[in-house]
Amino acid sequence: MNQQDLEAVFKCQSDLIARNESISVKERVKLLRSLKKEIQKKESSIITALKKDFHKPYFETMITEVLVVYKELNLFIKNLEHWAKPKKVKSSWLNFPSRAQLVPKAYGQVLIISPWNYPFQLAMNPLIGAIAAGNRVVLKPSEHSAATSNILATIIAKVFEPLHVKVVIGDQEVAQELLQFKWDFIFFTGSTSVGKIIQQRAAKSLIPTVLELGGKNPCIVDETANIELSAKRIVWGKFINAGQTCIAPDYILVQQKVKGKLIEAITKHLKQFYQNLNPESEDYAHIINEKHFNRLTNYLVDLKVLYGGKHDKTYRFIAPTLVDEPPNNHPILNEEIFGPILPILGFEEIASLKKVIQKNKNPLASYIFSRNKDNIRLIGESFLSGGLVINDVLIHFVNDRLPFGGVGDSGLGHYHGKHSFECFSHLQSKVIRKNYWDPPFRYPPYFEKEKWL
Ligand code: NAD
Repeated sequence: MNQQDLEAVFKCQSDLIARNESISVKERVKLLRSLKKEIQKKESSIITALKKDFHKPYFETMITEVLVVYKELNLFIKNLEHWAKPKKVKSSWLNFPSRAQLVPKAYGQVLIISPWNYPFQLAMNPLIGAIAAGNRVVLKPSEHSAATSNILATIIAKVFEPLHVKVVIGDQEVAQELLQFKWDFIFFTGSTSVGKIIQQRAAKSLIPTVLELGGKNPCIVDETANIELSAKRIVWGKFINAGQTCIAPDYILVQQKVKGKLIEAITKHLKQFYQNLNPESEDYAHIINEKHFNRLTNYLVDLKVLYGGKHDKTYRFIAPTLVDEPPNNHPILNEEIFGPILPILGFEEIASLKKVIQKNKNPLASYIFSRNKDNIRLIGESFLSGGLVINDVLIHFVNDRLPFGGVGDSGLGHYHGKHSFECFSHLQSKVIRKNYWDPPFRYPPYFEKEKWL
């Protein structure tokens, strides 16, 4: 799509908004139903696309891309009419006589920019929130997951008029062009560095934004933890999607006394989960592109590999890999890893953790494996992360009652479930004044005697 076409779509959408052509709540529910049906029809194409983009396993595609979208759609289809109704709030006696309401209003035109790592659900789920709230949307999915972006475009074109929702295929230059328009709201998922560019652009026109960014998520295991179960859960959460998950445990901090036991248990589970692992294995994803493959394999050059380390450039395959005690200044401890390499670092005292974790400010998620309530409290209070899970990883993502988002460097704002509807709605404060009494006190002259008698 060239600049002229982009301008035309933007202009037509904004003209419709200016003419007050809103989309009724009933119509939105109908469209969400059609979207669900269309996704169901295209399920096998979605699976094929993700396989093509980065060899994503069928089961992982079903649970982390398709089913999470159905779950969100079902929730919205069931609740949207209720959520969209104005909500009564108590009136203030200072406004007597009056009634007061909170009215969810669409922002207008929303730009959604999405990443490649969960390319279907990280485009669809914000989109569901945006259209449910009554907005018109332009979605720009990632250029790196091209097959999935194309299937997204096909599904959307089948269900929505382009003047309601339009998918724009393109790279970062196209994203930059889109950012030149004055959107009413921008929802961005991606890296912290690009998030800053988006925020700078949005600030120029005071465009409200939600930024869902990355970070280094610590995974702390103390000496009281159930080591077997902790290892099993960490291995699952780290190596699903070949570690290319924004909330994956980035590195492990384990109490020295149990470090050996944890490494043994992790190794055991890696062997069990990924038996006879090779680049064509159906249970393990590949790295998205050569740039990321090179970045990840470069980490390994000077590190002590405890397990794994095998890689194959032809397939962009990197086996699940454990590395021991990287030096403090090594990039693997200072950049988001975003791949299947898991550093393990020992610590003696809980009190020493704060300094290590605060080096990478405000993770998107943090994980604590422990059976000691005081340790859990102490660690939990020592730094601020977007989400916190005790004795497991990733699972907060699927509870739509919990708002999902980062804080500080890992993001701004949150969504999922009803929080998504609220994220894409402006909550208008409305007062309906009654005329049967008009208290005279506020009008000048303020101290006229008759008023007060
Ligand atoms: P990215 O920031 O490189 O790209 C994301 C999107 O922004 C893409 O659509 C891309 O085309 C666009 N883009 C890239 N450069 C741009 C620029 N200069 N100006 C405007 N747009 C630009 O991120 P990615 O590599 O696709 O995804 C990985 C990152 O996303 C990781 O840091 C990960 O932690 C983060 N992430 C966060 C979440 C979350 O929910 N918080 C979810 C998934 C991924």
